[in-house]
Amino acid sequence: MNAVNRSIDTKTYQQRDAAHHLHPFTDYKALAREGTRVITRAEGCHIWDSEGNKILDGMAGLWCVNVGYGRRELADAAYKQLMELPFYNSFFKTTNAPAADLAAKLAEVTPAGLNHAFFANSGSEANDTIVRMVRHYWNLKGQPDRKTIISREYGYHGSTMASVSLCGMSAMHGQGDLPLPGFHHIDPPYQFRDGANMTPEEFGLAAARKLEAAIHHIGPDRVAAFIAEPIQGAGGVIIPPMSYFPEIQRICREYGILLIADEVICGFGRTGRWFGCDSFDIQPDLMPIAKGLSSGYQPISAVMVGERVATTFIEEGGEFYHGFTYSGHPVAAAVALENIAIIQREKLVERVAGDIGPYFAEKLRSLEDIPIVGEVRTMGLIGAVELVKDRKNRTFFERLGATGTICRDHCFANNLVMRAVRDTMVVSPPLIISHDEVDELVAKARAAITATARDVGVL
Ligand code: PMP
Repeated sequence: MNAVNRSIDTKTYQQRDAAHHLHPFTDYKALAREGTRVITRAEGCHIWDSEGNKILDGMAGLWCVNVGYGRRELADAAYKQLMELPFYNSFFKTTNAPAADLAAKLAEVTPAGLNHAFFANSGSEANDTIVRMVRHYWNLKGQPDRKTIISREYGYHGSTMASVSLCGMSAMHGQGDLPLPGFHHIDPPYQFRDGANMTPEEFGLAAARKLEAAIHHIGPDRVAAFIAEPIQGAGGVIIPPMSYFPEIQRICREYGILLIADEVICGFGRTGRWFGCDSFDIQPDLMPIAKGLSSGYQPISAVMVGERVATTFIEEGGEFYHGFTYSGHPVAAAVALENIAIIQREKLVERVAGDIGPYFAEKLRSLEDIPIVGEVRTMGLIGAVELVKDRKNRTFFERLGATGTICRDHCFANNLVMRAVRDTMVVSPPLIISHDEVDELVAKARAAITATARDVGVL
C-alpha cells in the first residue's frame, strides 16, 4: 500500500474526496462540482486552508472547540494517556482512572442532582442512549404505556435513528421514513416567527403550554419524557424567553414526565454559565453532553443521569444491556478532564458572562442597522442574525434558505465561517475569542450581510 502523501496540492485532495469520500450533510453532486475546501491547520480562533487562507472560525468547528485550537495541554494529556493505557473497555466490571475521574468531575460541575455519567462517543449516541434509558425506566416503573417522547420543531438531537426521530427537522425525517413511532413534536419558542404581538413573558408561557396541550392530546399516561435544548442551536439559535422553562418544568412535574435538557451545544460555558440549565434554571432528569466536553479534541459524550433514574436503574434495573466499545475511552476521558481543567483555570465561563459575552452582544447587535436584518439575539457566546425581506412586518423571504446561503458564501469568500440555518446566520465562536477578533468577526459579517442585501435587492 502507498503511504499517504501529505504534501499534495489542493486539486489532488479535492479529486480524492470527490471520488471516495461521502461527507456528512452534503449534496454530493454539488460537492464534486464545486470542490471542497481543504483545512490543514488551526490555532486559537483561526483555521488555515491548503491555499494558505487564514479563516476566522465563527462556529468553533461545529459549536465545539470551546477552548480554541492549538492547545498543547490537550495534546500532552492524550499522549501521556496513549503511552500509559491507550484503551481498555468499561464493560464487565472494569474501569480506568480517567473515566472514573471524569465521571466524578462531571458530577461536580453539572447542575445539582446529576451525579452519574454514562459515556458514549457523540451527541447522537448520547441521545440514543437516553431513548433507551427512558423506555427502560418506565418499564421498570410498571408503566410500559409511557413511551412517547415529546420534542420540538427545529430541535436538533443527532443523526442516528432514534436521535433523528427526536429532531424536529422535516427534511431529515423525509429520508428514512422517520420519525420512528413514539415521537411527537411541538412548536418551538420562536418568538421572532410566532410571537410578534406578545411580550416575551406571555409568549414564553404560551409556547410552554403547547407541551401541556400535547400531553392532553396524547394522553398523560402515555407520555414518557420531554426533551429540549436550552437554546436551540442547529435549528437557528432560538433563545426562549425566561418564562418558558419554569413553565416547562412545572408541566413536567405535574404530569410526572421526565425532563431531558440537551446540553450538547449549550454546555461548558457557551451561555455564560457552565450549562444552559444554569442560565434558565432547569432541573433535568437526564442531560446529554458532548462537543465542549472535550472541545472537540476527542470524540466523547455522556448522559448525565439524575437521582430519579439512576436510583431506579441501580436498585431495580438488573443488567443494562447497552454500551459502546469506546464508552469511557481512557484517552478521550483524559483529554476531557484536561479540557475542563483549562476552562476552570482560565475562568472561561466567568469571562463569557462578565467580559467577552456582553462585548459580543453589543457588537453583534450593531448589525441591526442593516435593512435586511430583522433581529439579532445572543446569550453568552452564541448568537443569531435573522435576515428578512421586510423587517417591519417580520416577513421572511419566499424561498426560505436561499438568502442565508448567499450570505454564508459571502462570509466564506471573506474568510469568515458563519453558518446559515434557513435565512438565519448563526455564530458560536471559541470562548477564548479576543475583543479584536470579535471586531473582525462583526466587520466581516457586516460586509457579507451588506453584500447579501444588495444581491437580493433589499439595499
Ligand atoms: N444534540 C445537539 C443539541 C446538537 O447540537 C448535536 C450536534 N450538532 C447533537 C445532539 C448530535 O451530536 P453529534 O453530531 O456529536 O452526534
